[in-house]
Parts: sequence; C-alpha cells; structure tokens
Amino acid sequence: MKIKYDTRKNLAERIFLLEILKGLGLTLKRLFSKSVTIQYPKERKKLFPGFRGKHALIRDPNTKESRCVACMRCATVCPARCISIRFSKDEKTQARKVESYEIDALRCIFCGYCEEVCPVNAVVLTEEYEYSNYTREPFHFDMERLLKNWDEFVEKNKIDPEQYRNPFLRPRGRSLGELPSGKRIDVPEEWTLEGQVIWKDGRAVSAKEVVS
Ligand code: SF4
Ligand code: SF4
Repeated sequence: MKIKYDTRKNLAERIFLLEILKGLGLTLKRLFSKSVTIQYPKERKKLFPGFRGKHALIRDPNTKESRCVACMRCATVCPARCISIRFSKDEKTQARKVESYEIDALRCIFCGYCEEVCPVNAVVLTEEYEYSNYTREPFHFDMERLLKNWDEFVEKNKIDPEQYRNPFLRPRGRSLGELPSGKRIDVPEEWTLEGQVIWKDGRAVSAKEVVS
C-alpha cells in the first residue's frame, strides 16, 4: 500500500515555521531534564546482580588451583556445546584430575547453566564485559586463561575471593544440609526460601511449600 504524506501547510505554519519552533521547544525541554545516557567509559552503570559476563575458573584460595573436579556436569548441560574437558583417573583412588578445560566463548549463549550446575562453585560468569577483540583466538579460553580471567576480575573489582558469591548458586527449595560443601559456604546468610520457585510435577510451585 502506498503511503501518502500530506505536505500542505496552513498560512500560520508557512509564516512562523511552527515545526521548527516545536523542535526547538523539545530540545529546550530535554536540556533541563535528567540525562538518560552516561559518559562511558568514564562512567559505568552498576550491573544487575547475576549479570553474566566473561568466563572464569575460580582459583581456590588454599590450593591456588582450580576447584574443578571434572564431574562433567557443565559440559553436559551446556546447550551450546562450547565446554570441553579432558581428565585422567588415578588408578588406585579413581579420583579424577583435570587435564584440560576449554571454553569457546564465541559459541556461548551466556545462559549460566554451567555455573548453576557446578557442584563446587568452580566455573563462573564474572561481571566483566569489556573483552572485545579483533581476532577469534582470544575468545578461546583454556584453563590457564580461565584462571587468569578470575585473577584479573578479582584484582580489578577489589573482590575478596573468599567472600565472592556466585549469584547463581542459590539452591532452590533445598535445605543447606543437602548441598555439597562447596555450595554451602557460598549461600548468603540473608538468603531465604521466600519467593523461590521450583518446578514440580510439571508446574511451578513455591519452594517454601515443598520444603516445609
Ligand atoms: S553460559 Fe551456557 S552456553 Fe555458555 S558455557 Fe555456560 S552452559 Fe555453555
Ligand atoms: S561442573 Fe564444575 S566441577 Fe564439574 S566439570 Fe564443570 S567446572 Fe568442573
């Protein structure tokens, strides 16, 4: 359908150029209203809790290594199939040792499933979002790079690694006693079941209802 514009102007509009005056009036009004933009990068907005940014493997403050126990949950749950882990097994104890841990951040959809499912709070999506680059290689994170991402995140944001709480580590409808120790220490004291919802028998129900 052809759209027709009425370009006819009445006498007042022709003489006083009313559209221009209206436009100037709007500019004047906006001049004194509160700004909605910020002067990035000098100014930065506060991120929402749970913002999902650059991947990192948390460096354990005691061992200085990754906490990953190669359970493979993150790689299994990842919908983008961008996590790849290789591990070896101790013949006697059958304990797993991570040989390599890689994330292809260019395939990641930042769903947060990996950090949510990790039983030991090893992998996180930090609040770091400034990591653009000109080539693809810097987005292929290996274990060394992922640990370095954590170090940089901690240093830049002056975070106490022992106090850091992954916002996705909120157990829904589960008592603390049921949780693996790695998660138990990360549950904020103020956390309650109030407002938490879990999926049960095909419908969303209040976690408080289920647990009590
Ligand atoms: S955030 Fe989602 S897509 Fe990205 S690595 Fe984790 S599980 Fe995979
Ligand atoms: S879920 Fe956690 S512990 Fe398991 S393989 Fe992934 S990062 Fe490692």
